[in-house]
Amino acid sequence: MVKRTRDVTGEGAPDSPLGNATGEQQAQVSHDEPKVDQASLEDNLPTYYPLGKEAKQSLKSLKILQTAKDHDAHLKWLDKEVKNTLLDYVDNELNTYNALVLRGQMLVDEFDLKRRKIYKEDPIIESVRNIKSSLKSIKVGQDAHSKAFFQMKAEILARQEPELTIEEMSEYKGNESDQQPMYSLFESLLNNERLKTAKTDSKVLDEVLETELFLCIHPTEPLPFTENPNEDDGDDIAVDGGVVNLTCPISRNVITRPMKNLNCGHTYDKDSLANYNSTVCPECGRPLNKRALVEDAVMSLRLKYEKRDQEFVRERKKVIVDTELDKI
Ligand SMILES: [Zn+2]
Repeated sequence: MVKRTRDVTGEGAPDSPLGNATGEQQAQVSHDEPKVDQASLEDNLPTYYPLGKEAKQSLKSLKILQTAKDHDAHLKWLDKEVKNTLLDYVDNELNTYNALVLRGQMLVDEFDLKRRKIYKEDPIIESVRNIKSSLKSIKVGQDAHSKAFFQMKAEILARQEPELTIEEMSEYKGNESDQQPMYSLFESLLNNERLKTAKTDSKVLDEVLETELFLCIHPTEPLPFTENPNEDDGDDIAVDGGVVNLTCPISRNVITRPMKNLNCGHTYDKDSLANYNSTVCPECGRPLNKRALVEDAVMSLRLKYEKRDQEFVRERKKVIVDTELDKI
């Protein structure tokens, strides 16, 4: 058993939302025993006693702190802003390079080289990766706190203990319980949660950010990382000469609303599926049914950024035509 004076004095857990619950109990005890001086009272208090009815009631009604909720909302907002700012930055860089190409101040090959370097070497992208990873650890830390809080609450409320009376105080003193006091229970649950997340969350790529960032720069290239490398990923199947196919296997037109078949990883246009009467994938013959179709978010991003790239190509062609015309 752990002897914890802070639970006896009631001054423990300054940062716990429940820190004063034991303090209330003690105040009550002192009031009932006016003749006993403070020092000897503390010496005679048991190291553990159950929460009183009122304290249990207030523990029951305690929800997650509003400040924690506010922090969560801010973190979410910040995370999104950081991602959007980064994508705007990349877009802006590409537009700037393209403007140089259009003015004849940069070769197309040089443009492609610069573009490749953005994903791998850009210092701004690197620092944003670090910011995102810090944001993630704040979020993980916060989640560990709320999980530990709710586990502690459930465990304390489930304890079936007779209420403490002054008469029984000496019984508690002599026959002390093995139960952990509330604050140390919270501490150990929190440590457990932290250990769990430390194992899983150290240096994990922010998949959402990396995916969008990569596709913003290389819309038709297969992703260099996958959630599960053993899984049949649609990208592996649709890759043709290192380029991901953006056309629908049913209509053979460029996809506009991508739907992915989870049975095989092939992606079709939602509109062509409406007129498609077969129950097998036209590309690989595996089953194709409504239940296995999901919106293909990765393909949507590819289409979005490929559209921008096509615009670059159109602008360049226009410039070439214009210069040829000027020569005539
Ligand atoms: Zn297929």
